[in-house]
Amino acid sequence: VNAEIIAVGSELLTPRRIDTNSLYLTQKLNERGIEVAGKSVVGDDRERLANEIRRARKSSGLIVMTGGLGPTLDDVSREAAADALGLELDFHQEIVDAIEARFRRRGRAMSENNRRQGYILRGAEILPNANGTAPGQWLRDDTGILVLLPGPPRELKPMFEGQCLPRLAQIASPYQYYTLSLRVTGLPESELDQRIAPIYSEEKRVATTILASPGEIQIHLRARAATLEEARKIAEFLGEKVEAELGSNVFTREDESMEQVIARLYRGRGMTLAAAESCTGGLLAERITSVPGSSEYFLGGFVTYTEAAKNAWLGVRESTLRQHGAVSKQAAEEMARAVRAKANASVGVSTTGVAGPGGGTEQTPVGTVFIGVADEKSVEVAEIHVGGERDLVRQWAVQKAFDLIRRKAL
Ligand code: AMP
Ligand code: MG
Repeated sequence: VNAEIIAVGSELLTPRRIDTNSLYLTQKLNERGIEVAGKSVVGDDRERLANEIRRARKSSGLIVMTGGLGPTLDDVSREAAADALGLELDFHQEIVDAIEARFRRRGRAMSENNRRQGYILRGAEILPNANGTAPGQWLRDDTGILVLLPGPPRELKPMFEGQCLPRLAQIASPYQYYTLSLRVTGLPESELDQRIAPIYSEEKRVATTILASPGEIQIHLRARAATLEEARKIAEFLGEKVEAELGSNVFTREDESMEQVIARLYRGRGMTLAAAESCTGGLLAERITSVPGSSEYFLGGFVTYTEAAKNAWLGVRESTLRQHGAVSKQAAEEMARAVRAKANASVGVSTTGVAGPGGGTEQTPVGTVFIGVADEKSVEVAEIHVGGERDLVRQWAVQKAFDLIRRKAL
């Protein structure tokens, strides 16, 4: 079966609240081999909601609604579902008794409007709510399954796991799914896809998703098979082919960030690192030290933001700064060498660039960053040009620096 999720609540149509329930539900459904074919957010409007339920029922066998089950008049999921399916709502005194008891245990009286939560679609199963007042509802008919769940995540999650997943197990797909993620850096998305599309499009049992973010692309290979073990084999076989094509641009096939990969490699090889940062202003050191145990390999760093600091603290030559500027290949080179030597580290890294929005020149426009990496034998400098805002320039610079740092330990 395919599923659809309808998130109900006018607050979800404002910038103040986002629908997170559907993300949770999608993950749980996918784990059980149920694809989410669509989702929508609908305000607290009975007629719109009823129309949405009717539409969804035509195309999907499982509709999961969240929210709109509260006691107040603006919560209309029950009524809208009744309208859409042409069903009566039956009043269940035992539900209201349970809600009343819940209030009494807290020394409070139930308000009259909580009685609204006692109405259940005729033919639906009641899903008791251990963490709130509104019970969920599970309705199965010839058209499919309709589930009504409360909006608060702390009520929805236990109800879905405890009461919906066991019911779904009976109708779930015959497939098991396994997802392998490869994380890639140093390639544009278009080039990456061009190179691996011939590989993944051959394998019909795997759904491939490519997700790009600054300085990193994730490739998700989701394989399906009769057993989990078989699905894992299919995903891994394809993963190996993709990895062979992309080589060391793949920085991990685990759920690891670049800084975690660096931690693993540098600890494994007993290598150490020091940083001299200009345009990244400490961002690089911040991310490196966000990994527990980073003191084993990260010795320290400088934030040398002005030319004077570059000269005084790192010994970048005045002639270099005068002739080439602080944002130059030469400055990056001297910074990386100097910080490595001062810290007595295996590797020294440096960043110097124009993050913008001001400060660009014709020769070094905004977005230009030089990244130096030095080891005891040599120093190399990469030059990148990032189109985008200050924050993005800085992120890209760190990501590129991480890639160079990582490669020193391969
Ligand atoms: P309701 O069941 O509509 O009364 O929802 C109660 C509360 O649950 C709302 O005020 C939200 O804070 C939260 N909520 C409702 N729907 C969602 C959703 N889709 N994702 C996350 N939180 C939600
Ligand atoms: Mg609501």
